[in-house]
Amino acid sequence: MTDNPSTLLTVQNLKKHFKIRRGFPKSVTYSVKAVDGVSFDIYAKEAFGLAGESGCGKSTVGRCILRLIEPDAGQVALAETDVLGLDKKGLRKMRKKMQIIFQDPYSSLNPRRTIGQTLAEPMRVHRLCPKREIPERVKGLLKNVGLSENAVNKYPHEFSGGQRQRVGIARALLFNPKLIVADEAVSALDVSIQMQILQLLQELKETHGLSYLFISHDLAVVRHFCQRVAIMYLGKFVELGTVSQIFDDPLHPYTTTLRNASPIPDPEIEQHFSQLKGEVPSPISPPQGCHFHPRCPKEKLVCSRQAPVWTELEDGRGVACHLYT
Ligand code: SF4
Repeated sequence: MTDNPSTLLTVQNLKKHFKIRRGFPKSVTYSVKAVDGVSFDIYAKEAFGLAGESGCGKSTVGRCILRLIEPDAGQVALAETDVLGLDKKGLRKMRKKMQIIFQDPYSSLNPRRTIGQTLAEPMRVHRLCPKREIPERVKGLLKNVGLSENAVNKYPHEFSGGQRQRVGIARALLFNPKLIVADEAVSALDVSIQMQILQLLQELKETHGLSYLFISHDLAVVRHFCQRVAIMYLGKFVELGTVSQIFDDPLHPYTTTLRNASPIPDPEIEQHFSQLKGEVPSPISPPQGCHFHPRCPKEKLVCSRQAPVWTELEDGRGVACHLYT
C-alpha cells in the first residue's frame, strides 16, 4: 500500500441474491445470498485480496463489479464513475478500464483461432489502432507477458497452462485497464509456474500502474501477492485488514483457523495446524445469528441469536464478531 493511497474502486453494500427452485413435483423457491452487503475500497496500484473457502461468494463479488452478473443492490464506483448506473454504451467503455483473468484461460480461448487472431480481433473491433499497426501491437503485447513472437501463429492447445495464462493476461492488457480482477488466476498452475505468473502480475502492476482484485482460496498466495485482504464467509466479509494484520495477528476466529490451516513455507516458523470443524453450512439456509457459530471455537450465547455488526477498529481493520463489539 502506498503512503497516501488514492482510491480507485469503491464498493458499498454490494448484494447478489440468486433465486433457486428445489423439489418435485411441487418446487419451492429459495434465495441464496451469494453476496450479502460487502463494502471495500481498492487503492491505485494496490493488490487487494479476497479470500475464503470455495462457495463463499468471492467470485460473485468480482463478477458483480464488472457487471458480468448484475448485482441486486449496492454501489460500485471506478474512479468516481458510477459503474452500476451505466447504460450499455457506457458499460462497454468502462469495461476497457476493468478486465478479468480467469482460472482456466483455455475455456475462454477459441480453439480454432491462433493467439494472433484472438488478440487482433478486439483491436480491430474497437479500433484501438490503425489496421496496419495491429501485428506489431500484438507482438508487443506478447513480449510484455513473456511470450515469443512465434506465439502469434500458435493455437491454444499448443501452449502449456502457464503460457495460456500469459495469453489471458495479454488479452486483459489490450485496453490498458486500471483494474484487473484476477479470479483464481494461478490456482490451476504448478507451484513453480504460479511464482512466474505472480511475478509477471507484479511487474505489470508497476509498469502499467495496475490495481488487482485478487480472488483466491490459497492464503499463501494472497499473503505473498497482496497488500490488504478481506476474508469472506457465506456472502459476508468477516475481517478486512493489511496482510500483516490478517496473517500475523488475525482477530476473527474464522480467519485464525484458516490461517492456521495454511502452511507457511519457512522452516524457522513453528506452525500449529488446526482444522475447521464441520462443513460449510448450506447457503440456502445459513445458520441464524453469526453464520460461523456452529463451527466457531469461541462461540458465545449471543452468537446464535444475533448477527455481529461490522466494526472498524482503531488499527484500521474491520471485523464482524461479537468478541470485538
Ligand atoms: Fe465466533 Fe461468535 Fe465471533 Fe461468530 S460472532 S465468530 S460465533 S465468537
